[in-house]
Amino acid sequence: MKILIAGSGAMGARFGYLLKESGNDVLFVDTWQDHIDAINKNGLQRIIDGVDIGPIHIPAVKPEDVVGHYDLVLLFVKSLQLDDMMQRITPSLSEDSRVLCLLNGLGNIEIVEKYVSRDRIYLGMTLWSSGLKGPGVLNAVGSGSIEMQQVNNLESDFDAKLLTTLNDAGLNAAYSKDVIQSIWHKVSLNCVLNTYCTLIDCNIGEYGAYEKHQELTDLILNEIIAVGKKEGIEVIYDIVANNIKGVFSPEKAGGHYPSLYQDIASGRRTEIDALNGAIVKLGEKHGVETPVCKAITLMIHSKENVNDLRNN
Ligand code: NAD
Repeated sequence: MKILIAGSGAMGARFGYLLKESGNDVLFVDTWQDHIDAINKNGLQRIIDGVDIGPIHIPAVKPEDVVGHYDLVLLFVKSLQLDDMMQRITPSLSEDSRVLCLLNGLGNIEIVEKYVSRDRIYLGMTLWSSGLKGPGVLNAVGSGSIEMQQVNNLESDFDAKLLTTLNDAGLNAAYSKDVIQSIWHKVSLNCVLNTYCTLIDCNIGEYGAYEKHQELTDLILNEIIAVGKKEGIEVIYDIVANNIKGVFSPEKAGGHYPSLYQDIASGRRTEIDALNGAIVKLGEKHGVETPVCKAITLMIHSKENVNDLRNN
């Protein structure tokens, strides 16, 4: 399959090399010039589970430099970069190019469908994780899975091709009839851990070690559950609360600082508007009060602002 990875950062690079190794024709698309240059010059360097497994050569280009037909576009930018990336790659997409969106957060499909008809969009949630050590250097541990569905639950010959392609690459993909609920469950976890760890300045295990962490967690979860209900999505408290507790131990993600923490630490904008910020917006639409998510969204934006002030 001809696959374009739109957003070849931590996740895009990991998925891209696995898809390349399983025999696909992969093109990395990115906007970070140093990263593009490093990949084209030295190949993508790969440190997997702490072992340097050497470089792999996959071409990397800017969105405007994509030529040719692609069967699949795998989206892996951050949510705040999605509109810009879609706008820039759309001219090079064909009528039958399919798009798979595995970004975290809410509101991503509403952006993608501005550019691509819904019958060509697949939506999913992934438990894979990844990181970058610097431009052109992938640093990833563990394994994961993908849960996905065609957004309108339409069936086509492409469904089987997509599933086989992902699974031949070892990506552990499966179709679901309700990936939206899984997305909301993951969003709920991110709304709690990404934000509190950033604001408290702690890793996930340290958050869990605070004796009243459940009170903090519930302040956010109660708002998400109420908003989800109005959206027709059942967010199940026990599942999310257990998922959160399940990552406190050092063997899971206890020593890990969430991506939003890392974005703030490196002076980058965050995905907060696709997390707690999205809950606030949906709450406003339905007349549901979300004061905690609102305060947290404003605090994260104020941290972005402080970064801007200090860096300029
Ligand atoms: P990323 O920040 O690594 O990459 C996203 C984009 O930002 C890429 O285009 C990348 O080149 C660019 N970028 C990264 N570092 C940069 C830098 N220092 N300077 C300039 N540009 C830079 O994002 P990601 O972690 O791959 O996440 C993509 C999506 O997948 C997000 O929605 C994220 O929430 C989701 N996700 C991430 C993980 C994870 O473990 N990283 C796990 C599941 C889902």
